[in-house]
Amino acid sequence: AATRRYRGRFAPSPTGDLHAGSLLAAFGSWLLARHHGGDWLVRIEDLDPPREVPGAAERQLRALAAFGLDSDETVVRQSMRHALYQHALDRLIDQGRAFVCRCSRSDLAAVGGIHRRCVTSSAEHKSAAPQAAIRLRVNDGDIVAFNDAIQGPQAQDLAREVGDFVLRRADGYWAYQLAVVVDDADQGITNVVRGADLLDSTGRQILLQRALGLPTPAYAHLPLLLDAHGRKLSKSDAARPLDPADPLPALRAAWRALGQSTQALDAVASVTETLDAARVSFNPAQIPNHVSGLAAMHNDPG
Ligand code: GLU
Repeated sequence: AATRRYRGRFAPSPTGDLHAGSLLAAFGSWLLARHHGGDWLVRIEDLDPPREVPGAAERQLRALAAFGLDSDETVVRQSMRHALYQHALDRLIDQGRAFVCRCSRSDLAAVGGIHRRCVTSSAEHKSAAPQAAIRLRVNDGDIVAFNDAIQGPQAQDLAREVGDFVLRRADGYWAYQLAVVVDDADQGITNVVRGADLLDSTGRQILLQRALGLPTPAYAHLPLLLDAHGRKLSKSDAARPLDPADPLPALRAAWRALGQSTQALDAVASVTETLDAARVSFNPAQIPNHVSGLAAMHNDPG
């Protein structure tokens, strides 16, 4: 049987500048795509205007270019694709799989944050909350298992651990889970490579793919960056912008965090040489499932 050509992607949200964690996801997904002779696409996930930083998308794309990481196809922006998300949502509503929910934050808190059924009838809440969320109904026994190429076998009991989840928010914006599933399928993505902070979202995405009759890509979740004490990197450290004017140290650091031999990059003097040497000597089997030590990602040893 013919196998589909590998198509990977990097999908940043324009909520800030390119930082250590996002470069790791960009470089890691690029390396895996090139290793498999595949395409690598960039998609701007700009569906959350309240969290968007003006100009961030352009700065991220300029920084990626400075790191030599250019999309093989025209960069797609989610803000231009509302009709696709609406079409998917309409299908789920028609199937009876998605429903309107007017539960408030405090309604949800009272049931441990996991939505199983609406605690108040929509009539009761109509006057107080004109806007309603739309959720996907999760059924008892909706257990999703998948084998992550880096993190190993995963399983999630969605009814118990997640509950009915939001597809369109009460403020009218699309939920990340719906948009990412629609776009990965529409763009023919065969391999999703991203940070391990999104491991927990994958079960929801696979359930949605099944509800919409879409193929499930292969998943690989890159190491989470930890500080020198083995704790998750603090927001401010993780979000420290990288310097696009000095790309080599950050590329080297990301290469190290991917578990690759630094010797391979000893002789390189430019971004092009770095990427050429990296794609030749890259060994996916060496990617660790977590990386300890801030120094692994930042140029300064302190
Ligand atoms: N836009 C998401 C983020 O920046 C990533 C989505 C994904 O890779 O699936 O966290």
